[in-house]
Amino acid sequence: MPEKKDYSIGILKSSRDAGKTYDFDEKHNKDLPVGMWFQNSHEGTILFIVFYTQACRWSRCLGCNLPSKSSQYNVDYRALIKQIDYVFASADVIGQRERIKKVIVSNNGSVLDEETFSSTALMYLLAKLNLHLPNLAVCSIETRAEYVDLAELEFISRVIKEGETPTELELAIGFEAFDESIRNRIFKKGLSLKLFESFVGRISPYQYGLKCYFMQKPVPGMSDEEAILDIQHGIDYLSRIASIYEIKINMHLNPTFVAKGTPLEKSFLKGKYTPPRLIDVAKAALHAEGARISVFIGLYDEGLAVKGGSFVRENDKGIVHLVEQFNMTGNFRFLHLACKE
Ligand code: SF4
Repeated sequence: MPEKKDYSIGILKSSRDAGKTYDFDEKHNKDLPVGMWFQNSHEGTILFIVFYTQACRWSRCLGCNLPSKSSQYNVDYRALIKQIDYVFASADVIGQRERIKKVIVSNNGSVLDEETFSSTALMYLLAKLNLHLPNLAVCSIETRAEYVDLAELEFISRVIKEGETPTELELAIGFEAFDESIRNRIFKKGLSLKLFESFVGRISPYQYGLKCYFMQKPVPGMSDEEAILDIQHGIDYLSRIASIYEIKINMHLNPTFVAKGTPLEKSFLKGKYTPPRLIDVAKAALHAEGARISVFIGLYDEGLAVKGGSFVRENDKGIVHLVEQFNMTGNFRFLHLACKE
């Protein structure tokens, strides 16, 4: 049998070449996920799970330190299965199991990259979703587009439809910025519009949903106005794609925070970068009113921001509350109010 390939050196090299200085988390108990939490959205209660696995093999994106929550080395399926058991044995999940409408599956990288997230564990997870969450409507899987394999998607989609409530599959991919030069030359996302559109073209006949993660003001050198415009262009573009391919698209808009051990942190410490203001995030998202896509605004930095590097500032309590109301209802009235804060 061929030996399992070792990607640990490549992962370290990609992150160091990209100017990252963080360490990977080898102290984490590999039988426990990185974290899980609930979100309230107009789709209902969402359970967000981040599994502890080998780090993202791309690891190059400028402001991202998610791999610092992962291992540099392979985490095998036995450990992942224990993590899954832990999730479904947790009192919080048991208490909310009837209410959970959506699960977002993440490993701070690509769940569909079988080199970092075991296929055995993925199958086990799907079975657990069917067994434990009777009202699950959507299973969202985070991945880079290049790991999407249609045969695998067809299988996953068939499995999750077998639960008590037929569950739809959603793919969640990082888009980060609309401007091609910012996205690929500066942020180093490695995602061209051509690749994105060919990916959408492949999944659209199956009617899988699509979530696209965007970051507002992801790189230094962007003014607040340019950052708003970039998101608005992204909304227009995704709306066009949703109409052409007749698929459901959600933009998950994350205001950028300054993540430790990244080139963005260096710019921030030199006074060359400030995170976006929440009022500007609300202004950008307001552009989606009447558009063909929905928007969710991420307000959680997973504890990865450096001191003073969060987008939530003192006196932002009111606007945070309005954004949460918007997320919960999808009602743009709350964003209009947020823009007046
Ligand atoms: S943003 Fe995603 S693809 Fe890019 S380095 Fe971070 S985890 Fe990997």
